[in-house]
Amino acid sequence: MVLDAVARRQDAIAAATREGLLGPEAPVVALLDVQGIRETARQLHTAFTGPSPVLHTFAVKAGALVPVLELLADEGVGCEVASPGELALARAAGVPASRTVFDSPAKTVAELRDALETGVAVNADNAQELARLDALVAARTAAGQDPGAPVGLRINPQVGTGSIGAMSTATATSKFGIGLRDEGVEQWIVDSCLARPWLTRLHTHTGSQGVPLELMAESVRVVFELAEQINRAAGRQQIDTLDIGGGLPVNFAGDETEPSFDTYAQLLRRTVPGLFDGRYTVVTEFGRSLLAKQGFIAASVEYTKSSGGRRIAVTHAGAHVATRTAFAPESWPLRVGAFDAKGAPKDAPEVVQDVAGPCCFAGDLMARERALPELSPGDVVALWDTGAYYFSTPFQYNSLPRPAVHGFWRAADGRIRFSLVRPAQQLEEVLADSGAAQRGALTADTSTGGQHPPTTAAGPSPA
Ligand SMILES: *Cc1c(COP(=O)(O)O)cnc(C)c1O
Repeated sequence: MVLDAVARRQDAIAAATREGLLGPEAPVVALLDVQGIRETARQLHTAFTGPSPVLHTFAVKAGALVPVLELLADEGVGCEVASPGELALARAAGVPASRTVFDSPAKTVAELRDALETGVAVNADNAQELARLDALVAARTAAGQDPGAPVGLRINPQVGTGSIGAMSTATATSKFGIGLRDEGVEQWIVDSCLARPWLTRLHTHTGSQGVPLELMAESVRVVFELAEQINRAAGRQQIDTLDIGGGLPVNFAGDETEPSFDTYAQLLRRTVPGLFDGRYTVVTEFGRSLLAKQGFIAASVEYTKSSGGRRIAVTHAGAHVATRTAFAPESWPLRVGAFDAKGAPKDAPEVVQDVAGPCCFAGDLMARERALPELSPGDVVALWDTGAYYFSTPFQYNSLPRPAVHGFWRAADGRIRFSLVRPAQQLEEVLADSGAAQRGALTADTSTGGQHPPTTAAGPSPA
């Protein structure tokens, strides 16, 4: 399986250079392994099968590309969205409201109303959001309507932190959800549910990369126990759905998928057996683990140089496509592959070198002091495991354009085929996104009569 995937992506690099998807016209490109994505989605389904009904959703922020959402929907995976933009993408991909979940710590009244009207499940983040939902549900009731969509509460079980603070969402002081262990909160949650028969879900998401599996499972256990407590107090099964979030970490150090969905599901079955006994519907929201290993960035080496004894390959892959790696290299190290200009594995002695990007700041490095076959201009570097949260979340530093994204697969004849997922951003689009149509906005009406002294090319003009 791993060997198939490795051979497929190597063949994809060679085919991309042959077909000009990567080269002088396109010095950086992103590639997604379609067969790998389908396989991964199937592994997810298999791991969580039965007896409880399960809705798997994909955290759209991990791969905000409509054809990807469509592909996942084709494999029975819905969408978890956290903004109007992400919801629009899910809709554009044809994902039905009944398979969409809306989480976000800052939902507006209009967004909440839209979710209820269109039947998108909402997980309320806090007491103020719950009060907004109260008003919206009351208005619907007054109009003879039901609440419209399933509503849940996001619980922060406050179980602790993982290895990356910025990714840990279940700490004592997290900005997400309702802190279960704060004074009086547990009783408040039970009372809030009893007062609102339409609150039928509990949600938790412990973090995203760097959180140990045991901690994730512990969060799920705590929230399961809370649901049982609410249902006992209600005397009926009011909480009927448990949304356990995403956060399965990805192995960025090698090709093995470790931990697997299966490993996590087995741990959950041991830690929270009741979750799977059929009384609850289970919702999941995996992002990175569905996509990271199924995509990569390939970029041309433009120059190679040596400075102060340090060897540097200057490539076209940098912070604009790998933002986290550039700004937090300790937390987000990437493996780098080295290929020649035809996309064949580079055959040269290894030397220690830095792999730099095109952005104009010193930290724009994809790898530091890495032993790699000695790179030359025209070679290709690949940044593996970047299918999630990398090229799909571009950063417009230096007005660098978003690269094209292509899906690839091996056809029955053994050859690699490509399909365009997102076109490369054109210079005209960079201009449009940079206010080119607003030319004159700051100069036309401000040269006379404003508070600022009018200036001309020759300096301040006489009053
Ligand atoms: C980001 C996020 C996810 C997905 O996290 P991954 O680490 O990509 O699996 C799921 N649920 C919520 C609420 C999130 O914020």
